[in-house]
Amino acid sequence: MKEVKSPKKPLIYYYSIVLLIILLFNILVTPMLSRSQVVEVDYGTFMDMIEEEDVGAVQVEDTRILFTDKEGTHVYQTGPMEDPTLTERLHSAGAKFERVVEEPASPIWSFLLTFVLPILIFVGLGQYMNKKLMEQAGGKNSLSFGMGKSSAKVYVQSTKGIRFSDVAGEDEAKESLQEIVDYLHSPQKYTEAGASMPKGILLVGPPGTGKTMLAKAVAGEAGVPFFSISGSEFVEMFVGMGASKVRDLFKQAKEKAPCIVFIDEIDAIGQKRNSGGGYGGNDEREQTLNQLLTEMDGFEENTGVIILAATNRPESLDPALTRPGRFDRRVPVELPDLAGREAILKVHAKKIKTAEDVDFRTIARMAAGASGAELANIINEAALRAVRGGRIIVTEADLEESIEVVIAGYQKKNAVLSDREKKVVAYHEIGHALVAARQTNSAPVQKITIIPRTSGALGYTMQVETGDKYLMTQEEIENKIATYTGGRAAEEVAFGQITTGASNDIEQATKLARAMITRYGMSEDFDMVAMETVQNQYLGGDASLTCSPETQKEIDRKVVELVKAQHEKAKKILEDNREKLDALAKFLYEKETITGEEFMEILTGGEEK
Ligand code: ADP
Ligand code: ZN
Repeated sequence: MKEVKSPKKPLIYYYSIVLLIILLFNILVTPMLSRSQVVEVDYGTFMDMIEEEDVGAVQVEDTRILFTDKEGTHVYQTGPMEDPTLTERLHSAGAKFERVVEEPASPIWSFLLTFVLPILIFVGLGQYMNKKLMEQAGGKNSLSFGMGKSSAKVYVQSTKGIRFSDVAGEDEAKESLQEIVDYLHSPQKYTEAGASMPKGILLVGPPGTGKTMLAKAVAGEAGVPFFSISGSEFVEMFVGMGASKVRDLFKQAKEKAPCIVFIDEIDAIGQKRNSGGGYGGNDEREQTLNQLLTEMDGFEENTGVIILAATNRPESLDPALTRPGRFDRRVPVELPDLAGREAILKVHAKKIKTAEDVDFRTIARMAAGASGAELANIINEAALRAVRGGRIIVTEADLEESIEVVIAGYQKKNAVLSDREKKVVAYHEIGHALVAARQTNSAPVQKITIIPRTSGALGYTMQVETGDKYLMTQEEIENKIATYTGGRAAEEVAFGQITTGASNDIEQATKLARAMITRYGMSEDFDMVAMETVQNQYLGGDASLTCSPETQKEIDRKVVELVKAQHEKAKKILEDNREKLDALAKFLYEKETITGEEFMEILTGGEEK
């Protein structure tokens, strides 16, 4: 939770101060100034001074008499009296005297002076201060007249430079985004076909993996304006400002369509509502989020405004944001694998001079677990090291050294696998895939990678989409359970040791086995009797048992039996395919990634088919 900032003072506050200063000046300072020069005396003193011929110049006004002494060093003032002989006496005392008749000020002038001028000064000062304050705030927050103007920056020029080719690796993400580029190029193609682009696309991945870069590259490839704003910027403002910023942002975007709107750190406003509860900033955030949802619902599909948003905490997002018609497409932007890291290193190495014998693959291998931003940093660190050594050519030693500097910085926050762990994870993941492949005789996976994920999973298996399947046979479910146990089974077969890495598999296998018995009627003992009913099928689907405690015991026993049988089956499959298991695991361990094709090639290689 961000600390709650003290609210910024409204403009009226500054105006009040100016007003106060002007008033004080009028009441206190001005009279003091004039009083210090003019000495107030009574009429008697005036008469005495005339008698003593100590009066120089006299000015008789309607409301007062101003006079000086003979030398003219002091100015005195006294009230006028009924004194018909004054003129005579002044004359005989040798004073210079005159009567000044004050022109009554024209009412328009006095009005202008007393009312209009102060207001003008007042507004002028306010404007000036506002400008000053805006400059101080880096133009971020305008205080009065630009109230609510969005600070989304338009990068029409700068994104021209960024292309997909500048983003190394991340091929899958680029592929998904290519469609958006195509749409922005020729929207009519899509409208004619009646297809509508998703309004919002969520780029999900750990920090520094190039999400911002990808968003800019989409704009760059399509040659459209790029508006970017960070979710946290919305939250830092006055109450109600966030919502009006959102409104303004979309207004601008619609005017500039086709265009890309990029919202970085969307979790700052898009967190689940009512999750924190009681924080001061909540109301503001909710208002902002609601405004965002309203805007997204409000504009028609195919307006040409595509909203890209980035987050590294997708699970914390409010479900309302990911509903269809909003951010309904999700593009994973994961940490780069070995090949990806090499490519990123090479892209950034173009900016520096490297020795010819630098082997980027070795460097990439050493920097396992590093993000794109960290790799860029490694290159920069190496260049700095070279400069420190008085060289301009960066050597491999510089790079290796800087890996340590940079990795030491991030090792704590990122899970970097040890060598041994990497081996275990490779066997585990191949175990799943191999069991699956042997049961169905087809490629079970699209891709396996063993780069630690933000979700905490150490490996990642992209399952082949078999299309929507509404019906599954008993055998298929059993095979699926066997596949879940395959990871653990591989560890047993290869190392004779088991790890904690299978907790999620265990959960999944148990769920399936349980459902087979309690809901699908797939056990002989219970036949087609429902033992569980599912509530809230669309909201997670909590199951509640509807049977006696004795039966529950029986179910538990059955579940264990079922999983155990499948576990044994998986182990048998792996033992029978031990050589393939080793070959596949070795491949995955070294490359960190294996595609379905590569997998099948190794699996069927050398087999007569
Ligand atoms: P994110 O938005 O995911 O936090 P950024 O897009 O801001 O990450 O990336 C930060 C920096 O890291 C980029 O400016 C770039 O220098 C570097 N970088 C990250 N990923 C890549 C990549 N795939 N290819 C090249 N550079 C990258
Ligand atoms: Zn597993």
